[in-house]
Amino acid sequence: MKIDKSIELYTRGKKNLVGAVNSPVRAFKSVGGVPIFIDRAKGSKIFDVDGNEYVDMVLSYGPMILGHRNSTVEKTVKKYMKNGYTFGASTKGEIIMAELVCDAFPGMDKVRFVNSGTEAVLSAIRLARAFTGKNKIIKFAGCYHGHSDALLVAAGSGLATLSIPGSKGVPDEAVKNTLIAEFNNIKSVERHLRNDDVAAIIIEPIAGNMGVIQPSAKFIKELKELTKASGILLIADEVMTGFRSQFGGAQELLGFEADITCLGKVVGGGFPVGAYGARNEIMEMVAPLGDMYQAGTLSGNPIAMSCGIATLKELKNQDPYKDFEKTAAFLEREMKMAAKANGIDLQVNRFGSMINPFFTKTRVVDFKTAQTSDTDKFKTFFWKMMENGVFLPPSQFESWFLSTAMTKRDIYKVRSAIQIAMKAVANK
Ligand code: PMP
Repeated sequence: MKIDKSIELYTRGKKNLVGAVNSPVRAFKSVGGVPIFIDRAKGSKIFDVDGNEYVDMVLSYGPMILGHRNSTVEKTVKKYMKNGYTFGASTKGEIIMAELVCDAFPGMDKVRFVNSGTEAVLSAIRLARAFTGKNKIIKFAGCYHGHSDALLVAAGSGLATLSIPGSKGVPDEAVKNTLIAEFNNIKSVERHLRNDDVAAIIIEPIAGNMGVIQPSAKFIKELKELTKASGILLIADEVMTGFRSQFGGAQELLGFEADITCLGKVVGGGFPVGAYGARNEIMEMVAPLGDMYQAGTLSGNPIAMSCGIATLKELKNQDPYKDFEKTAAFLEREMKMAAKANGIDLQVNRFGSMINPFFTKTRVVDFKTAQTSDTDKFKTFFWKMMENGVFLPPSQFESWFLSTAMTKRDIYKVRSAIQIAMKAVANK
């Protein structure tokens, strides 16, 4: 695999960018190598600066559910670009977008748009504290909710990849109100409820930042009951799963309603959009209606909104969720078969259009079991997949994503790459 030009850019970029990247997950650090630099993408494919072509299963870590440069979306965005980029006053697009989002999530009467998943979650936490008058929040080990101070403990995603338990620079006071529970373990939540200062429980209803981990139906039901009974708010961080697991997110699929929902990624279709929403009673706390302050110069940006609207409408039309399920089931089967043929211990976790393998004998149900995966094996697997034309997140602890642009041919290409990569893992 020729990566001369990526190496050149990496070497040049290191001088003025931290690690030559703007987000640590792009650094390829845990898989040991030089990060590839992207030239362009179209449909299901992404091309690096050396001309290597890959089937894209990173999809910008989720947003590009329709693949790249979907023609309907592109037409809409180009049209809106002509009207100007940002105004500091409201536009009709924000209203249309709010209607689309509130329609998809029955628990949301009102929504506020922000610029990232991080912002959505930190605002949701502030809102939960404002509404309940309490301070503590419960989060689950291995779930990632963005990089705000209070949530950078026992976090997944890049922190899990780089084995960072919590970030330096976060004062103890910022995390003293963050309590950690175990995913899929209701007892670990109950333990914290003896404390009467808990404002909210925040969860990725389908975890995607320690690899994919499904909640048991019982766990979600109990969480809902427990929060309802104790007046604690349940915050669903659907930044990854919103419009991806199902149009109405994991909540539609798992059949529950959160008190506050956070969105990001797909909602902006590739432009920086995040959102948080809830029923009227809660959202009316937010300024200008209430005294919980949250604002943004570029929030509800008209071009980002136009991209979000076009993406959501197109998704609704295409209704790809059953097909995603079939493709993911096919990939699970193929990975398991290839692993078995090569004597490799493998678990495959998936949900909707999110899937990834763990190189372990242990069933993966939480952060601890996810960490039993042999990351050296993942490393070998990852590079063989890249060499054979499949772009995967360079980490054991990230989900792979499917897009509607993937063709049968792409899927067979992924299958062949899996067969080669598993053989390479066995021969290492
Ligand atoms: N929550 C979840 C569940 C996420 O997956 C992410 C990003 N991977 C975030 C929050 C943070 O979003 P952003 O990177 O847009 O700030």
